Amino acid sequence: MSKMNYEPVFMKPYFQHNIWGGRKLETEFGFDIPDGDVGECWAVSAYPGCESVVSGGDFDGLKLSDMWAQQPEFFGDLPEAYRAAGYPFITKIIDAKNDLSIQVHPDDEYAGIHENGARGKTECWYILDCPDDAELVLGHNAKTREEFTQMIEEKRWNDLLRRVRVRKGDFIQLEPGTIHAITAGVMLLETQQSSDVTYRLYDYDRLQNGKPRELHIRQSIDVATIPAGDPEKLVKHTENAKPDEDAEIEKCKFYEILKLPVQCAAKLDEADVFTIVTVTEGRGNLVMERSGSKYALRKGDSLILPAGWDNACFDGNMNIIAARSMRR
Ligand code: ZN
Repeated sequence: MSKMNYEPVFMKPYFQHNIWGGRKLETEFGFDIPDGDVGECWAVSAYPGCESVVSGGDFDGLKLSDMWAQQPEFFGDLPEAYRAAGYPFITKIIDAKNDLSIQVHPDDEYAGIHENGARGKTECWYILDCPDDAELVLGHNAKTREEFTQMIEEKRWNDLLRRVRVRKGDFIQLEPGTIHAITAGVMLLETQQSSDVTYRLYDYDRLQNGKPRELHIRQSIDVATIPAGDPEKLVKHTENAKPDEDAEIEKCKFYEILKLPVQCAAKLDEADVFTIVTVTEGRGNLVMERSGSKYALRKGDSLILPAGWDNACFDGNMNIIAARSMRR
């Protein structure tokens, strides 16, 4: 069977309203978003009801889930069960105008048992922008599950929750069981397993339409990692990444994340799996080395490079975050 000559596939995002969202996806990223508070750009997603769609090229208008089902070679030679479970990730750009609730996610095993076979959620954040004194909620101070439960019952949130300073360009890997919350003013790029299973531990006693949002205290206590890992070690600074070289900033069992600051000319070598590429800053071009096809890129663009076909060459002045599947 001869290999098809695939080209990169650009994605048109799905946008989601959130009570904590703002307008920066329009003002900072230039997206054409719906009216109101929009917190999430699902840039690359095949999650049911929140799908991104191919924009331009041979597959224009195709939903990502259909692309995944109909063009398996584009994504690489993946294990059959992995393929059958559907496109594995969600890539989001998040604009938090207000604080998000304090939450935690289960792993695959817990979600499989308690959430109808859903995936768990490992996720990671690359900070796109934040206030000078920004802090995220990362982890907690309880030493035992009993103490964790008691502090929740007594509503000692300030004693329980840890806050960690972050700055633009920081990267945070959030394993399942990590208590976390995005705070007001932070914009970030999130790469996560394709799952929407979130347990809300605390919502600052806020009301939505006159009522508090549902909490999931029991599940949060079940899945929280206790004691929590050192939050300072969770935050990786990436601003010293060398220009025009790709640097691995994370590798877990689901994905590897690369940072590629393009200052002049840079390259991502072809891989045996698809690569999700997001331009987080600046503008430039993508030229596929063998085919010679050229694409203009700008901040906010997300695309998928096909598996095992061609090296991707970048020029211009921009920052790229790329993600690749580790399950092959
Ligand atoms: Zn989360």
